[in-house]
Amino acid sequence: MARNASTIEPAALDTVSTRELYRELLVRVGEDPNRDGLLRTPERMEKAMAFLTKGYSMDVTEVLHDALFDVDYDEMVIVKDIEFYSMCEHHMLPFFGKAHVAYVPNGKVIGLSKIPRLVDVFARRLQVQERLTRQIGDAITEAIHPQGVAVIMEAAHLCMMMRGVEKQESSTVTSAMLGVFKTQMQTRNEFLSLIRRQGSSL
Ligand code: ZN
Repeated sequence: MARNASTIEPAALDTVSTRELYRELLVRVGEDPNRDGLLRTPERMEKAMAFLTKGYSMDVTEVLHDALFDVDYDEMVIVKDIEFYSMCEHHMLPFFGKAHVAYVPNGKVIGLSKIPRLVDVFARRLQVQERLTRQIGDAITEAIHPQGVAVIMEAAHLCMMMRGVEKQESSTVTSAMLGVFKTQMQTRNEFLSLIRRQGSSL
């Protein structure tokens, strides 16, 4: 395919823009980046990728900075069914699903709307689901030193569904149980029964 020849000299890679790299990628998969539908695709890909990886430039302390409150409350706080979208670091394909986050305070709480944002800080990076789950739990622990934190994530991985094993129905569940959620079965069970629902694989 001569007309789709590579436009990048190997020596020039350092100075090549992200857009040019995506254009090159289109050529390498056998496409013609000059056809109408693809003309602005490298630009769109660049923007999409910047959005999907913007967690790298987000900072937990900044996200939570005005949302930590002193309270006299020591019952479990749960935010469930938090929609999240991430990308697996092995194939750079999406995995997405629901996160359920709970903690038992120890004098401090986090503004409820900040929990989904905290999930995004770590989801919008290249990830493995296990690490993502753990990072959310650790960030809450560091921010408010609660009596315990629990994070459960259920996700579908496009790298499994679209390629390879093509297991369309499988969902992957990961959990991080810290503090009282690890040591007290009753606390853990209370959390699990509150998030369990019909159709869930939990
Ligand atoms: Zn993957």
